[in-house]
Formats: sequence, structure tokens, C-alpha cells
Amino acid sequence: MRGRLFTRALVKVKYDGRLKSYTDRIMIPDDQRVVINTMDMELLCNCSNCSKEVKYGDTWSSREWYDESGIWALPVCRDCHEKEMRDALNDH
Ligand SMILES: [Zn+2]
Repeated sequence: MRGRLFTRALVKVKYDGRLKSYTDRIMIPDDQRVVINTMDMELLCNCSNCSKEVKYGDTWSSREWYDESGIWALPVCRDCHEKEMRDALNDH
């Protein structure tokens, strides 16, 4: 199955692992496509942290950025994923 169907986040919320709570609530600009969910791994979307354009299939689930419900982790690019992992290790 291939298509352009996707669910886009309008808002992103930041989870602070140290405080164990959500700290920021940010409107995502209209010209950015932060995808919550799609079957299309080739779909171009924006990293939820640095806004870089990447294919959905080349993203990782963020440990910091979630959709408005706080349930769905938003996609981040490889660079931001690696930074999140380093930060998580440094917290312990
Ligand atoms: Zn990024």
C-alpha cells in the first residue's frame, strides 16, 4: 500500500524526563509537516525538533516531543535522535 495519507500534528508538547512532566506546548507552523502517523515511508516530513526535512522512514520516535494528547511520540531526524540518546545517558 502506498499513498500520501498521513496525520499531521498541529501542536507539539515537550516532555521533560527529569521533571517527569510536559513543559512546553508549541504551535507547529503551517508550512511544516510533522507527521504523527503514515504508511508512506517515502513521505517528506519535518523533524519535530530541528525542522529539517526528512523521509518519514528515516525518522525515529522522539523521547521529548509528543502530539497534543501526549500519547504519540513525534518523529525526529537521525541527528536529533542521537542527541536525545546522549542526553538520556547523561541524565543517569
Ligand atoms: Zn532534527
